[in-house]
Amino acid sequence: MLFVAFLLFIFALALFWQASRQQKNAGLPSGRVIYADTRAWGPLEQPLYDPVSGLTGKPDYLVEEKDQIIPVEVKSSQVSAAPYDAHIYQVAAYCLLVHRHYGKRPPFGILHYANRTFAVDYTPQLEAALLEKLDEMRQTDRRKDIPRSHDSAARCARCGYRSSCDQRLF
Ligand code: SF4
Repeated sequence: MLFVAFLLFIFALALFWQASRQQKNAGLPSGRVIYADTRAWGPLEQPLYDPVSGLTGKPDYLVEEKDQIIPVEVKSSQVSAAPYDAHIYQVAAYCLLVHRHYGKRPPFGILHYANRTFAVDYTPQLEAALLEKLDEMRQTDRRKDIPRSHDSAARCARCGYRSSCDQRLF
């Protein structure tokens, strides 16, 4: 349940930071607008898990590009100038998982909004910022159980952790 809590925390951060589109954290890449051929995107069957960091997650897609594996996160919302910070962290987490699982470090991850697609560079600085966040999350998790952050049965129905989650609604 600990790893589920980690993932939920990332989504909680997404909600918390959604109000701001500014890049407040030094070192966070702002994302490059790219054209993405969605036909090459392949869905992932199982979540990826990294026993070292305790992190798990399931990118919406993985795309193979020039011997590299790039994680893709799809958002149904629109965005204006730059991706949200929390979404950048989410893509960074997927890059870390891809690196640990496949042994290949993705140079970037893709954030696909309804109106725009960004490449988020997976820099050493971004990785360090992510690991710092995970550390904070671990300490938070030690202090208390993090409750389900929503009341959406539909979301649970689509969730890859449903079979092992004791808070599922569906
Ligand atoms: S099953 Fe529902 S409550 Fe559990 S992790 Fe998935 S979305 Fe959250």
